Amino acid sequence: MATGASKFTDAFLSEIPKTDLHMHLDGSMRISTIIELAKKNNVELPDYTVEGLRQKVFKSNFSSLVEYLRCFKYTVAVLQTSEALERAAYELACDNFAEGVRYFEVRFAPQLHAHLPSKASEEGQVLDIREVLRSVNRGLHSACDEWNKKMHARQATNTLDCVREPEYHCAIIVSALRMFDASFSEYYRALVQCHKHEGMQRIYGLASMSLVTAAVAARDEEGIPVVALDVAGAEKGHPARDHQAAYQYAQRHFLNTTCHAGEAFGPESIYQAITLLHAERIGHGYHIFSENMVSGKKKDKAKALVNNIIQYVAERRITLEVCLSSNLGTMPGLKIQDHHLGRMLQHRLSVALCTDNRLVSNTTIVKELKLAINTFGITLKQLRDIVITGFKRSFFSKSYREKRSYVRCAMNYFDFICSKHGLELPRHCYVAPPASPQTGDIPAVAAEGATQVSTAPFVHKPAAVYRNGKSAFAVPTKESS
Ligand SMILES: [Zn+2]
Repeated sequence: MATGASKFTDAFLSEIPKTDLHMHLDGSMRISTIIELAKKNNVELPDYTVEGLRQKVFKSNFSSLVEYLRCFKYTVAVLQTSEALERAAYELACDNFAEGVRYFEVRFAPQLHAHLPSKASEEGQVLDIREVLRSVNRGLHSACDEWNKKMHARQATNTLDCVREPEYHCAIIVSALRMFDASFSEYYRALVQCHKHEGMQRIYGLASMSLVTAAVAARDEEGIPVVALDVAGAEKGHPARDHQAAYQYAQRHFLNTTCHAGEAFGPESIYQAITLLHAERIGHGYHIFSENMVSGKKKDKAKALVNNIIQYVAERRITLEVCLSSNLGTMPGLKIQDHHLGRMLQHRLSVALCTDNRLVSNTTIVKELKLAINTFGITLKQLRDIVITGFKRSFFSKSYREKRSYVRCAMNYFDFICSKHGLELPRHCYVAPPASPQTGDIPAVAAEGATQVSTAPFVHKPAAVYRNGKSAFAVPTKESS
């Protein structure tokens, strides 16, 4: 059985089809683009060279959360025009596709970019929420179009038998903010000042409601692939209930939901996300096991609360969007070997590995996979599960039948790439990491539905051929070796 980090070469990790379900536009820009946009739009930066900004702002290690969050001040400052948003979205898509990401969902807070004509440098037009969404979508659409055309041309001229590649797709998630003040953006400044008579919690709710209504309208009236609502920002002291009405609106209009929770606050934050917002996925969920972080009235029953949350999240396949490098960046004392990903896998939680912020966390999806593989001894079977979970739990914007076909295509292509690299997947075999003597976590178990654990490998024959773009796709055959 081919397992272990040593078998997973960079070429293999690059070629397998991948997803990124949790990635912020303003945290994932190219530094060279930030410099160009800053010069063009008179935005002040502490340095105007890539190396200088790496040293002063976008560091490889951060000593505090404040230092980490400071990066966004500059990226948001240059993303204040339609042209800049389109360019950033286009480049982000190209960067993802270049490392073999076939599907991603990019999230951002449109209200950080929206403003009135007074500050617009482009034709004196209002950059409203809808225009922010349109601009990002234009960039994404151009990149998808370009990459799919190249991919189809590649397959049409391929004289060798090979499995059909999954197309390149992407979608948009809009992020509301748990908290903001007048300094966050021109939009938020106007909102806070115009609603001085309201409490801030009420204003947070107003903002998230105005965002979700604009997002649903952009999807329904213009076909912009906005697929979900998210809420991001400081969790402590900024509860999910402020955004309950916006989430209810999303659900009534069949907009999916995810929610940053358990990133910088304990299990109660995840509890609120799943019971008040009914989030289908959780951004991070890092502190799902952190009984010691339960506070308030629930402190006495912390163990039961944590067990119930784990059970609920596991059974409903609420996917945790795990971002390893980002967690290390926002929790400077955390060592990768102590990250909870290992426990999440032992508990058979639904996990997708994501980057969060490609620039700010100085990462890529391949780097995240390598980090997980090297730290937690991820097997080929586990790697396949994680990667395919990304496809299955995506908020794919097309029909359910199209999604099923797309996921099947990604699975077959994954297996084909394994076969190409001489890696053999074990049949009906799942071996969980050993139970931790410290935590007493659950022991290794066979996969659900497996009647027996077999270590016999199977070989994928790439019989599903796509010859000169003419033959129809068929499911690959599998046979025991
Ligand atoms: Zn995030």
